[in-house]
Amino acid sequence: MEPQRPLPQPITPEARPYWDGLKEGKLRLPRCRECGRPFFYPRVACPFCASRTIAWMDASGRGKLHSFSIAHQSFNRALKVPPPYVLALVELEEGPRMMGNLVNVEPDPARLACDMPVRVVFSKLTDDVTIPLWEPAR
Ligand SMILES: [Zn+2]
Repeated sequence: MEPQRPLPQPITPEARPYWDGLKEGKLRLPRCRECGRPFFYPRVACPFCASRTIAWMDASGRGKLHSFSIAHQSFNRALKVPPPYVLALVELEEGPRMMGNLVNVEPDPARLACDMPVRVVFSKLTDDVTIPLWEPAR
């Protein structure tokens, strides 16, 4: 079956542990070995102290809905997810924020609220690519 979403291309070496973790059902975050702070997205240097000594940690997969928008039209023809759908900015327990879709909830403002608890769900697109989505945490 063809994926409903554009696949990330290319997967850069500094992001490889992130994508490998998702394939195993783990949400991993890069964390600076110098200042100890986790961050997202993966990159070669810490955004806080510029250290290039980066390690990886398993995130809890839990967070809260920092902000959201309900999309009623899709402007990217490669995205075949039928609207309406929820675009979410999730603040992880560990601090970093990630963009994604909030699923398993009606895309209705009456059902959504900033700061509502969410948790990660893994969506396998291909044998190589799994992406994190989010759902309300019960
Ligand atoms: Zn740092």
